[in-house]
Amino acid sequence: MRDSKYHSVKPIIDPAKPQLYIETYGCQMNVNDSEVVLSVMQDAGYSLCEMMEDADVIFVNTCSIRENAEQRVFGRLDLFRLEKQRRPDVVVGVLGCMAERLKEELFDHPAVDIVAGPDSYRDLPRLVEGAKGGRGQINVWLSHDETYADISPVRMDRNGVSAFISIMRGCNNVCSYCIVPFVRGAERSREPQSIINEAESLIANGYKEINLIGQNVDSYLWLDPSNTSRQINFARLLEKVALIDRKVRVRFSTSHPKDMSNSVLYTMAMYDNICKHIHLPVQSGSNAMLEKMNRKYTRESYLERINRIREILPGCSVTTDVIAGFCGETEQDHLETLSLLEEVQFDGAFMFQYSERPGTKAARRFADDVPPDVKKARLNQIIALQNDISLRNNQYSVGREYQVLVEGSSKRSDEQLMGRTSQNKTCVFPAAGYKAGDLVRVKVTSCTSATLICEAIS
Ligand code: SF4
Repeated sequence: MRDSKYHSVKPIIDPAKPQLYIETYGCQMNVNDSEVVLSVMQDAGYSLCEMMEDADVIFVNTCSIRENAEQRVFGRLDLFRLEKQRRPDVVVGVLGCMAERLKEELFDHPAVDIVAGPDSYRDLPRLVEGAKGGRGQINVWLSHDETYADISPVRMDRNGVSAFISIMRGCNNVCSYCIVPFVRGAERSREPQSIINEAESLIANGYKEINLIGQNVDSYLWLDPSNTSRQINFARLLEKVALIDRKVRVRFSTSHPKDMSNSVLYTMAMYDNICKHIHLPVQSGSNAMLEKMNRKYTRESYLERINRIREILPGCSVTTDVIAGFCGETEQDHLETLSLLEEVQFDGAFMFQYSERPGTKAARRFADDVPPDVKKARLNQIIALQNDISLRNNQYSVGREYQVLVEGSSKRSDEQLMGRTSQNKTCVFPAAGYKAGDLVRVKVTSCTSATLICEAIS
């Protein structure tokens, strides 16, 4: 096993080496996977480059969760094909969820030399060598135990403040609409000491915030192979990471309503440096839809979880995911989603209309029968309502003070900084000598539905 303690976590840029260009689509798990890929390729002698035109190898790390995510990747492959016409020796690899879902079919696109699923990244240097001989290379084997625990990801973020650590891979839940269990395989929890080592290494390299990520972090469970009565669950892991350095913030996602335990909530309450934000995807407010989605909780049990969060963690923000227009969704089901949003008053939400994914249980068993214009209208209603609620929640913050971890300049101006509160609210305020990584006390002066406008007070 490679010792991950305190090694350099930043890319080594060396124009004399073969150049690797990586594009990443999809969720934070994919971003973290690209960092694993860079680590593997850097060990094989490659150096990261910023422009596709400089690359000897181009990787695109993909997402299959919605059809339009795949369409975007095909658009990029068309562009890579032009690059290959200009420089035929360039090797192009499709990595991740699309590689796992489409397998050999991807070779139908003339740009593609390598197809590599999410558990095959150790094999990439060999696949690249094989592809240089002009033959398509594929590895889409899904593992029951691969966690990349001994690989220290090389961070590609630009801020050097907030980093993501994968604590598990795959998912066992099989929500009926979701492609993830098919493309990322069965759930595997990563050995806890390797997670602690990675967090220590990041902190030693100046990171101020650690994000523990997995498809369903609440089902994290490590059984000590030498003594299976010794277990570490997510609450315990969270505590261990929080204790590494009480000045470093710890976040996590994604939580599952059926698995989120009170012990996680009590652990969050116990440590100031565990951020007070929970992303708890509800997907629908209708029990009929939740059952069809195979979510394994009801509207009532979800609301009970929300009540416990508010009891144990007053002031904790809660965000969610919502799907509009799932198979068979009636107007009444939709109204129940709207009423749940009203009842919970989420701080924010990711809202999508249902997009059928081939191979899922929903695609096999249920008709995608909500007409596109109805889906769209329902989604718009959901977005409009949630925007109102987010704005009201943010207005409550006006005049209040928060501690903000600065991540860098705001999108609009270098004279403004952007950071987040413990509740994961985005704050913008005049730079006034502060910089990325600073913890700054701010007062909220006004807001939009997405941003708190602030002034620094210390
Ligand atoms: S919990 Fe459900 S939605 Fe989330 S990754 Fe697993 S199967 Fe997909």
